Parts: sequence; C-alpha cells; structure tokens
Amino acid sequence: MASVTLKEVSKSFGAFDVLRSIDLDIEDGEFVVFVGPSGCGKSTLLRVVAGLVPVSQGTVSIDGEEVTDVPASKRGVAFVFQSYALYPHMNVARNISFALETARMTKLEIGRRLAKVADMLKIGHLLDRKPKQLSGGQRQRVAIGRALVSQPKLFLFDEPLSNLDADLRMEMRFEIAKLHAEVSATMIYVTHDQTEAMTLADRIVILNHGRIEQVGTPRQLYDHPANKFVAGFLGSPR
Ligand code: ADP
Ligand code: MG
Repeated sequence: MASVTLKEVSKSFGAFDVLRSIDLDIEDGEFVVFVGPSGCGKSTLLRVVAGLVPVSQGTVSIDGEEVTDVPASKRGVAFVFQSYALYPHMNVARNISFALETARMTKLEIGRRLAKVADMLKIGHLLDRKPKQLSGGQRQRVAIGRALVSQPKLFLFDEPLSNLDADLRMEMRFEIAKLHAEVSATMIYVTHDQTEAMTLADRIVILNHGRIEQVGTPRQLYDHPANKFVAGFLGSPR
C-alpha cells in the first residue's frame, strides 16, 4: 500500500493551465475517485501521480518520499487505461506476464503469479487466446491482470470501464471493489460515472477547471455539497 501527497501541483501546456495548485493527501489503502467534467484535468492529474506527465510546479510524494523527478517505471505504480492497450500478437498469458520477464524473475515465480491473477479475475480459460478473440469485458480483465501481476502498491485507473456496456460495467465495478478488498493497494480511479464514484470511493475528489472543488466521502459530498457545481454533479437535492 502507499500514501500519496500532492503539494501545490500545477501543470500548464503552453499558456493553458490544466492543473492549478492541487493539494491532496491520499492514505494508505484508500480508494479515491477523481470526478469532474470532460477536460477538467482528471487524466492529467492521474498521469502526474504516475510520473507520465511532469509537473510545472509543486511536488508529488509517495509513502512520504518525494518522487517529483522519479520516472514512472520506478514509482511502483500500475496504470489501467480506458483503451486496453494489449499487445495484439501476444496471447493473454504473455500479455499479463510480459513485464515480469524483464524483471529478472524465475519462470516458476512468473507462472505462480500468472496463475494467481488468472484465478482472481476468472480468466484461466483464456490464457492461450489472442486479444482479438476476447470480448470487451475479457480484454479489460486482462488489462487489470497485467496491472495486478506486478503487485504494485498503487493502482491508477483511467475510466477503465467506459468502453463497456452497462451490464458489464456493473459486473466489473463489483470485481474492482472486490479486488480492492483482496489486495492491499491504494487505488486512484478516474471516472465520469456518478454511480461508479458513489459506490467505489472511500473519498471522492471533485475537479473543475483544474482545481479541486471538494473532497469527501460520498455521503459527505452528497449530503453537504460545498456548492452548486458539486451538488449538480452528484445529483444532490439542493
Ligand atoms: P479529463 O481527463 O478530465 O477529460 P485531461 O486531463 O485529459 O482532462 O485534459 C485536461 C485539459 O488539458 C484538456 O483541455 C486537454 O485538451 C488538455 N491537455 C491534456 N494533455 C495535453 C497535452 N499533452 N498537450 C496539450 N494539452 C493537453
Ligand atoms: Mg480523461
């Protein structure tokens, strides 16, 4: 598990300020959801935590250590994108275990981890298939499996379910909640789906125009929205 601290994080692309002085503390093992309208900076903020986008100002710390200049590959995080980004020429087993092969791990250990992940995500029967032989939901399970297998302390999800139909989205939502209960990892999850946010989050971070409007538990935000924007976003009766 990992704690994450952002201090006065700002990010500009040219003259365009995408993130404006973001302060945020995420605790060990928390499930935090970023929500907000399209273009408000959710993905950029997640990428800043991952180390995929450098900040313009401010600092990022993981487990109390500043990692602002530490590259993504050294931060102990795993990223699950909306587009599954699986390798089309590799079967499911290799798509999941590929990254471990470069990590000086024995074949035995790789096999053991693969089996465990396949079991957790119920994809053991799909290991020989290529991505194009999978449904959307199965592909997303494989993408999550690939993140899981490296046993990260911090998972970052960027709208992982938004390409799936409603039934599958609900099923995968339960799977992700179960996953969070089973593995001891902190999770940061971006979505524009209120139901996902309200049901998955320990705390929700509401973003608007690159600023944090409010942070709180789903209950706190729903019952006591700080302003009209938050109320409107969560459908609070106000
Ligand atoms: P969200 O995920 O909330 O929809 P993003 O973080 O993807 O928002 O983007 C926030 C804003 O920053 C958008 O206006 C987007 O066009 C802009 N943006 C994101 N990445 C880049 C980039 N690499 N170069 C220029 N502008 C960018
Ligand atoms: Mg986005």
